Amino acid sequence: MRDVIVSTHFDDAVLSLFSVLAERAEHAVVLTVCGGVPPAGALSTWDAAAGFASGADAAHARRRENVASCALTGAIAIDLPFLDGPYGALDGSAVRAVVLSTVAEGDRLWIPAGIGRHPDHLAVRSALATVGATVYADGGYAGRWLHPPRAAAGTVGRVVRRRLDDAMMAAKIDAVRAHASQIRGLTDGFPDLLDPHGRLRRERWWPARGPTMPPGR
Ligand SMILES: [Zn+2]
Repeated sequence: MRDVIVSTHFDDAVLSLFSVLAERAEHAVVLTVCGGVPPAGALSTWDAAAGFASGADAAHARRRENVASCALTGAIAIDLPFLDGPYGALDGSAVRAVVLSTVAEGDRLWIPAGIGRHPDHLAVRSALATVGATVYADGGYAGRWLHPPRAAAGTVGRVVRRRLDDAMMAAKIDAVRAHASQIRGLTDGFPDLLDPHGRLRRERWWPARGPTMPPGR
């Protein structure tokens, strides 16, 4: 049995569920939805601010960063070919089909709650809302929410709250730092991002009540 964590962007799984990655090691899969390479000439504001000359350069660099981050826990990285929001809207039915084709019988699937209301996270959540998944609080927002998002009500159980100990938090910060090109942008939004006593200490999720929908459905 694997834990398949649907990570909207490369850094979301480690920001949101590091304790699960650390405990499950090679039995965890980081399934990055927006892992595609934008067409030549495209460059988003976020990628330009990170110092890249093109969206393609950013995507290749982030794939390498993600491999390095996953290597710290042993997680397997799988990149799906969808693009970040600035480069095109996510096709929900295509996302759902590819994610379900990746899940094997008995796997536990994790999807983002969409807390923070990032459009890509919301699109991924709605694409997978009915498949029977554990819903996790998007990294950075775990402290504020104890109730599942309305879209998940009825499909999930009571919240699981985890506060990382010192050693786990230090390891998490190392794994977050591996996503080096994103750190400046993230700390603009969350100044305490890399603080050992900051917001990333808290992780939250709502376990699925039933099994994940079998592949092919
Ligand atoms: Zn994200």
